[in-house]
Amino acid sequence: MARIVILTGAGLSAESGLGTFRDKDGLWTKYDLQDVATPEGFARNPELVTGFYNARRANLLDAAPNAAHEALARLEAGLPGEVLIVTQNIDNLHERAGSKAVWHMHGELMRALCHACGARWDAPREMRTSDACPACGKAATRPDVVWFGEYPYHMEEIWDALRAAELFVAIGTSGQVYPAAAFVQDASRAGAETLELNLERSEVSHDFDEARQGPATELVPAWVEEMLAR
Ligand code: NAD
Repeated sequence: MARIVILTGAGLSAESGLGTFRDKDGLWTKYDLQDVATPEGFARNPELVTGFYNARRANLLDAAPNAAHEALARLEAGLPGEVLIVTQNIDNLHERAGSKAVWHMHGELMRALCHACGARWDAPREMRTSDACPACGKAATRPDVVWFGEYPYHMEEIWDALRAAELFVAIGTSGQVYPAAAFVQDASRAGAETLELNLERSEVSHDFDEARQGPATELVPAWVEEMLAR
C-alpha cells in the first residue's frame, strides 16, 4: 500500500491551459452542467455532449504537463512504491509527465465507453455518437468519463488506500465534489497527516492539518523537494 496518497483536481492542470470548472471563467460559466455532464443531458442531446468532450480532447492534445505534474512524477520515482495519485482529472497529464500509479476516479477523456455492453477503447480525436463499439458493434459510444449522478471508479480501492495512508495531500481541488471532498476526513480518521495545496483556501481547508496557498507550479515542486530531502 502506498504511504502517500495524493488527490488531484482541475487546479493542477489549470497552468497547462485546461480550464477548471468552478473558478471565475471556469467551464461551468460557459456550459450548463446539466446539459454536458449528466446521463440525462447525454440522453437529451448526445451530439452536444460528444462535441463538448471533443473540444476538451482537442485542448488536451495541445496542452503539456506543467511543473507540478513533473514534480509529482519525480516524487514517485524518488520514493518507489510509496506514492499513489488519485485524480479527479480526466486529462492524461500525470501519465505524460511520467507518473505510473494513477487512478482516474472520474474516467479518462482519451478513452471511449460503450453504453450498451460496457466495453472500453482508446477514444478517437473526434468521437461521434454513430461510432460502432468494437466489441458489440452497436452505435452506443460515449466518452469514458463519470458524470454527475454516476458512481466514480476505483472507490473501494481508494477507501482502502486512504485508510492505509500515512500522508494525504489534496492539490488543486475545490472540495465541492463528493465523495472526493470527504477523503480528507476519511484519511484523517484513519490517522494520516493531511496537507492541502491550493490557489486559495477551499471549502474544506479547515479539515486539513496544514493548508498552503499559491499556484500549483510553485507549491508542488517546493513540497516535493521537502519530501525528497527528508
Ligand atoms: P474545481 O474547478 O471545482 O476546483 C479547482 C480548484 O483548483 C479551486 O479550488 C481553485 O482555487 C484551484 N486552483 C485553480 N487554479 C489553480 C492553480 N494554478 N494552482 C492551484 N490550485 C488552483 O475542480 P475540482 O475540485 O477538480 O472539481 C471537480 C471536477 O472537475 C471533477 O469532476 C473533474 O473531473 C472536473 N474537471 C477536470 C478537468 C481536467 O481533467 N483537467 C478540468 C476541469 C474540471
